[in-house]
Amino acid sequence: MDYKEHIAIVEDWPKEGVQFKDITPLMDNGPAFKAAVDEIVEYAKDKEIDIVVGPEARGFIVGCPVSYALEIGFAPVRKEGKLPRDTIKVDYGLEYGKDVLTIHKDAIKPGQRVLIIDDLLATGGTIEATIDLVEQLGGEVAGCAFLIELTYLDGRSKLNNHDVLTLMQY
Ligand code: IMP
Repeated sequence: MDYKEHIAIVEDWPKEGVQFKDITPLMDNGPAFKAAVDEIVEYAKDKEIDIVVGPEARGFIVGCPVSYALEIGFAPVRKEGKLPRDTIKVDYGLEYGKDVLTIHKDAIKPGQRVLIIDDLLATGGTIEATIDLVEQLGGEVAGCAFLIELTYLDGRSKLNNHDVLTLMQY
């Protein structure tokens, strides 16, 4: 499957100098979206994953169908103030900004094997923060999967040898 034909490249968005990769055309296309989700499910199948974790908002879009197919749960990672119960938090840097990510304290049990999913790996800040949250709760990161990797930003170097799947590279 040539996923890239379903990615729209938007110049200078959300700010000048950023070349945004828009995944909504891929989501719009049933067979392409299903193929992408299936590929991540296939990657995860032999990893004995207990739970999928994804950062808002596009991590939910890609992560939830994967957790459904694997018949396991999904735990959301969200910006500060969005989750209603007790959370832990971490500060992180984005490709274009700074923020705080949180997860519910009881989202992951110690020793659970976690698959982290997001739409895109850029500088790796978001995923590094998500790994931090998972590990603070005693989870074991068994793999990380993304639709897109921006190789020129070298986000992989922040992933400390964790197993990574990316379906497209730019
Ligand atoms: P990082 O933290 O620098 O790796 O940025 C990754 C996060 O920013 C992911 O949660 C993405 O959803 C978002 N992001 C950064 N650049 C893009 C892009 O070009 N398209 C879609 N999402 C992006």
